[in-house]
Amino acid sequence: MAGSVLSLQLIEKGFKVIVIDEPSLSASSRVAAGIWNPVVFKRLTKSWMVDEILPVMLEFYQAQEKKFGVQLLHHRNIIKLFSELQEVNLWFKKASAEMSDYLDKEISVNGLPKTIKLLDVGYAKVLRAGNLNLPLFLNTVTNNLQSSGMYLQEKFDFSVFSPSLVKYKDIEARYIVFCEGYLISKNPLFKYIPMKPAKGEVLTMQMDDLKLEKDILNKNAFIMPLENNLFKVGATYNWNDLSDSPTEEAKLELLNKLNRITELEGNVIRHEAGVRPSVIDRRPVLGAHPAFKNVFVFNGMGTKGVMLAPFFVNHLVEHITQQKKLNKEVDIARFNQFFVN
Ligand SMILES: Cc1cc2nc3c(=O)[nH]c(=O)nc-3n(C[C@H](O)[C@H](O)[C@H](O)COP(=O)(O)OP(=O)(O)OC[C@H]3O[C@@H](n4cnc5c(N)ncnc54)[C@H](O)[C@@H]3O)c2cc1C
Repeated sequence: MAGSVLSLQLIEKGFKVIVIDEPSLSASSRVAAGIWNPVVFKRLTKSWMVDEILPVMLEFYQAQEKKFGVQLLHHRNIIKLFSELQEVNLWFKKASAEMSDYLDKEISVNGLPKTIKLLDVGYAKVLRAGNLNLPLFLNTVTNNLQSSGMYLQEKFDFSVFSPSLVKYKDIEARYIVFCEGYLISKNPLFKYIPMKPAKGEVLTMQMDDLKLEKDILNKNAFIMPLENNLFKVGATYNWNDLSDSPTEEAKLELLNKLNRITELEGNVIRHEAGVRPSVIDRRPVLGAHPAFKNVFVFNGMGTKGVMLAPFFVNHLVEHITQQKKLNKEVDIARFNQFFVN
């Protein structure tokens, strides 16, 4: 996702681009549900910088919809199913004040399909949320790069890369930007960045009687409608097992969570896993390598690549082309103490 957004913005600015990618190496963007949620449920706060990031995100994907003639954005509410009264009180307080743009004040106790387990405390809606059709976005970008001769499908071989010349095999460039997701840990130039990757698993389920057509349900897990009675159910977090392989344990965890939302059982159609590229301080990481000024990194999309990538790609491109200063919170320079030359 990061490399796709970056290549689109660079092409838009008139750069000639070569994307080197071996998509089978890492699956995070391919398994992600693509949801953008302007709210952090844990503390019921706004997502970091959301007021600035969300308009840029919407404008960027809308422009791609126009350019490629596809529908990428699906605007939906996220329905938060409450567990206890305390949650409702906090919601109402915040929805009436600083979070009124994102939290609907109305607390409801009916209006959902009967198959949803609703407690007396009811539910409320997160506004201005939705999902990006990520498979369509990634395939559209890759096809476009391929047909323009800008895509090289191979594993990047560091033994034939000169960072001082920005030369890879017979390709000579002005700049290179590494967007490798959690596999940054295998990059000899940037492996010093302290990552805290988190594996996640999702299920695609068929539930013919759920009758949930548009909105996303959330209660410790999410259920998002796809088409033809299929639903995405996710997601788990695991900081120890960093493989892309689905596990029986995570499947059971998701089915248990699903069981707290609906009495329906459904069939598991697909079970996928990926590793989220999170940085230890949970902020993106971008900027030039300390020793090679034309070698850049763009990473740390963590759990929120859909929302963060358009805004911060823009930020990096302005930094590279106009020498604009990077926001300190995302600047790679914050990790200089870990770099050993
Ligand atoms: C289960 C799950 C659910 C998620 N749900 C959401 C969600 O709803 N909303 C959201 O915003 N985010 C979600 N995320 C997070 C999201 O997936 C990430 O924020 C984002 O996709 C990261 O994108 P990326 O391009 O940085 O990394 P990646 O998707 O990992 O892409 C890195 C790319 O680099 C390639 N690569 C790496 N090394 C090399 C090499 N040496 N040579 C060639 N190619 C290489 C990889 O193969 C891959 O194609 C979810 C993640 C998971 C795991």
